[in-house]
Amino acid sequence: MPIWNPWHGCRKISPGCAHCYVYRRDESIGKDASVVTRTGDFNLPLKKTRQGAYKLRPEDGIVFTCMTSDFFLPEADEWRASCWDMIRRRADLRFYIITKRIERFAECAPPDWGGGWEHVTVCSTCEDQARADARLPVLLELPLKHREVISEPLLEEIHVEPYLHTGKIGHVTCGGESGPGARPCDFRWVQELRRECIRCGVPFTFKQTGAVFIREGKTYHIERKDQMAQAAKSGYSYTPGAGSAERIVYRLPERKALFDRLAKSDFRSRFRLTEKDRAYIAEKGIERLRKHAEDFVEKRLSGENPANDGQQTPMKGHPVFVAQHATACCCRSCLEKWHRIPAGKALNAEERSYIVDVLMNWIERQL
Ligand code: SF4
Repeated sequence: MPIWNPWHGCRKISPGCAHCYVYRRDESIGKDASVVTRTGDFNLPLKKTRQGAYKLRPEDGIVFTCMTSDFFLPEADEWRASCWDMIRRRADLRFYIITKRIERFAECAPPDWGGGWEHVTVCSTCEDQARADARLPVLLELPLKHREVISEPLLEEIHVEPYLHTGKIGHVTCGGESGPGARPCDFRWVQELRRECIRCGVPFTFKQTGAVFIREGKTYHIERKDQMAQAAKSGYSYTPGAGSAERIVYRLPERKALFDRLAKSDFRSRFRLTEKDRAYIAEKGIERLRKHAEDFVEKRLSGENPANDGQQTPMKGHPVFVAQHATACCCRSCLEKWHRIPAGKALNAEERSYIVDVLMNWIERQL
């Protein structure tokens, strides 16, 4: 993974900057990271070997650009035109620019940018909801061929589905924070962001757990060397249609504990069978009802990314619909939150049968 740092040093502007690794590393060697200087690698894309070949070769992968600063930092305004020139000349490479200053892109773009350059991806960070709501509308409006989003460090639960629905965001990456004093990352935030990506068909990468990781209410302190490995092992990155979620290991909840939890939920425990539902069951019989449940689960829940997920189950009109809401078997998000069945994978026979059993169990308790 080639890295091109044309300048070094930066200015903190965002909550995500609080524990910036550039500052941390510079402080450890007595350097002031707020001083922005051109580096010896400024011309790296044009540097050549003794044999006359470019040092940066397309086969070495994406060129991560300005990783110890921000490409749109005002202090670097005088140098940026030269960088654009080098990027323009090296259209055989792919450049990846991550920024916390997406609002400066329009004034900093080169004059011949037009509708964007095919070999440049611009990625806006958003570590919390406020940053997402401020930056993503700007990102979406810019003339770019490739747009991505990074939420790292992810500092809270964020909702970006309306931005993803535009179809203009090609990838979302998230991760926790590393280093001393790292702020915690809750796995529920990662899962929520992932579910939004799945519903919008956007690839998602869970890059690293961070140093302080919360899962099911328990806090884990994870060593630096394990943070990326643990995230990869979890299987929670998602590429549409790639079957990656099949690797996720989970345990279906124990039935009694599940019904106890459902009983404690004001929303779930509000659902009851009506007289009309009961009459319907009496007329059709339990076995026929089970077939309906199997059918609904198969058609509305079983796919990797069911159409209209979150809205596919009417609130009433059939006893099984009522049971689905009462038991949180109504959509893939609820199945993940309440039953641990990961979103982003087709349901297997065991999972379908478990869901039908839960539904029928609830109906029988109601009769
Ligand atoms: S923008 Fe990036 S490089 Fe600059 S201070 Fe913030 S985290 Fe560090």
